[in-house]
Amino acid sequence: MATDVLVVGAGPAALCLAAALGQRGLRVEALAEREPDHPWANTYGIWGHEVDACGLSHLLAHRWSDTVSWFGSEPIAHGQDYGLFDKARLQAHWLAQGERAGLRWHRGRAASIDHDPDGSVVGTAAGERLRARLVIDASGHAPVFVRRPDDGPVAGQAAYGIVGRFSAPPVAPGQFVLMDYRSDHLNEAERRQPPTFLYAMDLGDGTHFVEETSLALAPAVPFAVLKDRLRRRLAYRGVQVEEIHEQEHCLFPMNPPLPDRRQRLVGFGGAASMVHPASGYMVGSLLRRAPGLAEAIATACAAPAGAAPGPALSLVAWEALWPAPMRRKHALYRFGLEKLMRFDEDQLRDFFATFFRLPPDHWQGFLTNTLSVPQLVRAMAGLFVQAPGDVRWGLMLPRDRELGLLGKVIDPDAAATTDANDVRTSPA
Ligand SMILES: Cc1cc2nc3c(=O)[nH]c(=O)nc-3n(C[C@H](O)[C@H](O)[C@H](O)COP(=O)(O)OP(=O)(O)OC[C@H]3O[C@@H](n4cnc5c(N)ncnc54)[C@H](O)[C@@H]3O)c2cc1C
Repeated sequence: MATDVLVVGAGPAALCLAAALGQRGLRVEALAEREPDHPWANTYGIWGHEVDACGLSHLLAHRWSDTVSWFGSEPIAHGQDYGLFDKARLQAHWLAQGERAGLRWHRGRAASIDHDPDGSVVGTAAGERLRARLVIDASGHAPVFVRRPDDGPVAGQAAYGIVGRFSAPPVAPGQFVLMDYRSDHLNEAERRQPPTFLYAMDLGDGTHFVEETSLALAPAVPFAVLKDRLRRRLAYRGVQVEEIHEQEHCLFPMNPPLPDRRQRLVGFGGAASMVHPASGYMVGSLLRRAPGLAEAIATACAAPAGAAPGPALSLVAWEALWPAPMRRKHALYRFGLEKLMRFDEDQLRDFFATFFRLPPDHWQGFLTNTLSVPQLVRAMAGLFVQAPGDVRWGLMLPRDRELGLLGKVIDPDAAATTDANDVRTSPA
């Protein structure tokens, strides 16, 4: 068979993994609906220490050292850099790596997949048939092929943002605001509604990016509510929008269950539930996890002919992507998010104020998913001990599917509520 791996998609996940596979000498092809260099719609943020560790800080368009959040009347300084990727350069970086490794692109929409003992065949909507030993589905949060069990509503992170010019700076000069949970612009009744926060940054040259964000909710907070809250938040601080250069409507699933690992193809990125269920970030995780997955696939492909047929390849790949410790942590994060979604505004502010007062390696490791299971449990226990009574009370008494998620921390293969047949991949 000529092709080792066929990657479906041309987003960050597809490009990152296709490059990593090619660099390991595999024969890789990729299938994209549009030109692979078609500009990405989303903007991607990342913590400074994450991008530095990957050696990609030269691909940032902006980097801030003055990084703060507001959970009360005074800001909390994070003491950590934050950056925004120059998304065109990040895309070009991965495309160039793929090209150097001989990556071959096909244009078309993946529509069907068939498996036989030696591999899989993807059929496109135009009737092309592409064969490979292993197919990677990197087609995003609503994947074309990957199946996930249905274990209830999926929460969406929703945000409405504006890049533009304002009558006065919405944040201090040179500043990045991760979360501004102040709500003095809302009335009492509105404060009892699901909380939202401002994510904002000074982009230089008199432009700013401001975004009203709901961390996660099922069903997701409507864009109209976010838009209204953003306008009123700014107006309360005496800031009017003068020019809109770009608007961002952001909605993606935060806590989908992990895919069924028995399926014959493998997912990566949004398709493989790799979004961090507590933060919504994923690009750092792609960069950290693509090399290990690519290495495992390359090793399995290099096994003597017939030793690693299609089913064995996909099992090896799933295990490399989602080994038991990662599955346990995913369950813990999902458990934590269930709690946060039940919190009222005061509890949320108290929770985050406590969280960002944890030792930096704890909160950073939590947010980047780089702690071991025992370290993560210790960080969460530390938070529980230091949190005020209202937060502790909210963290106790597991409700609904929280108990099931705790069960998966102990046994990550505990059965889902329904079998892996079809899925809720979109936010409810
Ligand atoms: C507005 C917004 C802002 C975000 N900001 C951040 C951030 O700052 N940091 C962060 O880490 N994460 C962020 N995320 C979350 C997440 O990282 C992104 O959603 C990310 O784009 C997902 O990457 P992906 O490659 O898995 O999927 P996508 O980027 O959705 O790419 C999927 C690819 O598959 C292709 N495709 C789909 N179906 C088919 C098919 N049938 N056949 C062939 N090709 C197909 C698509 O054309 C596309 O090329 C953000 C999300 C949104 C929506």
